[in-house]
Amino acid sequence: MPPSPITRAEISRSRLVENFQRLRSLARSNTNDERCDLLAVVKADAYGHGLALCAPWLAEAGAKWLGVTSVEEGVAVRRLCPQACILVMRGLLRCEVEELFDAQLAPTIWDIEHLDWLAEAAQHRAFAAESIPVHLELDTGMTRQGLSLAAEEFAAFLNSLRAIPSLKLDGIYTHFASPEMLDAEQNRQQWAAFEQAVEQIVAAGFHPQWLHAGNSSSVLGQQVAEPLATLATKLSARCMMRTGIALYGYASHFIGEQAAMAETARASLEPVLTWKTAIASLRTIEAGRCIGYNATFVAPKKMRLALLPVGYADGLNRKLSNRGHVLVRGMTAPIVGRISMDLTVADVSHLPEAMIGEEVVMLGEQNGQRVTADDHARWAETIPYEILCAVSARVPRVACE
Ligand SMILES: *Cc1c(COP(=O)(O)O)cnc(C)c1O
Repeated sequence: MPPSPITRAEISRSRLVENFQRLRSLARSNTNDERCDLLAVVKADAYGHGLALCAPWLAEAGAKWLGVTSVEEGVAVRRLCPQACILVMRGLLRCEVEELFDAQLAPTIWDIEHLDWLAEAAQHRAFAAESIPVHLELDTGMTRQGLSLAAEEFAAFLNSLRAIPSLKLDGIYTHFASPEMLDAEQNRQQWAAFEQAVEQIVAAGFHPQWLHAGNSSSVLGQQVAEPLATLATKLSARCMMRTGIALYGYASHFIGEQAAMAETARASLEPVLTWKTAIASLRTIEAGRCIGYNATFVAPKKMRLALLPVGYADGLNRKLSNRGHVLVRGMTAPIVGRISMDLTVADVSHLPEAMIGEEVVMLGEQNGQRVTADDHARWAETIPYEILCAVSARVPRVACE
């Protein structure tokens, strides 16, 4: 066996699977529909957790649908999960269409151009009627991507879609701008716009199999499930909710009257990733010595310092300089001085027993203590999503139970 890498991200299979099962149960009980599915989002290398590990684990755990950003990511998932339904959520580029067909991915569409490119590429292949599944995204207020609900554009798109017999409108979906703000008026407006537009599409003669909406916050916040299920039943469709970050054990913080319930659901999830390294070197310094680039830390007393072979090139956010901490022997060890590209210094003055080679947890648990992506996000003034996605390719992802 090769030696296990000193710096590594351990990815827990059981935690990922348990989070998936918990979230699916929640979606099923809130929709009161045992067939409600959960689309597991594995974009961005499974939020930094490693696609090659996570996609097959989720598929084995029962995730029928996997969500990716690009066709390139979709092709990678297809190799790993031959049976999965794979939704490309970013929309489509012309240069991606052939590969999309080859890998049998379902594209998200909303522009007339998407239809033109699909029709053009489909001409050279003998597709049967309604054999290419497409999902239509509706822009209900996020103003980022999705079909405009302005009457003329909306009608023109549906007419063009109808004119391509090989396409099958398999799903219709939307995305909310502030799903963690449980009382936000915008959520109600977006939902009302979605409901109305979907009814119009069905009235125009389309029969989507899937209606889906929301993200992790929507599943945990439990507001979308019931109206989604009601609408799906009314239109003889099936409902699905999409979830990304919660699969990996995190979520946005909830705001609003029902926040406590959502936070309880969130607390039942377990972080999947543990980022570890080891002490590379130790030294004791006298008071007055400066640490690191630009001498941003001056030792106020005699100190014991641990050198960690991790830096911003590994994805450790530089804003954690003089702000964050790591875990050594289940105790916090503050980061002192600037984080460098490949090196970080931690104060272990209170840990005289700490030795070279001993385990350091950058993110995760050690002896019952935790440093979470929420902590990193607070220190770095960002969101846990960015912290997790930032763990760089230099840090090998290692499977663990
Ligand atoms: C990324 C993404 C999600 C998942 O969002 P989370 O907040 O991570 O659950 C859901 N839907 C769409 C369209 C996305 O792009």
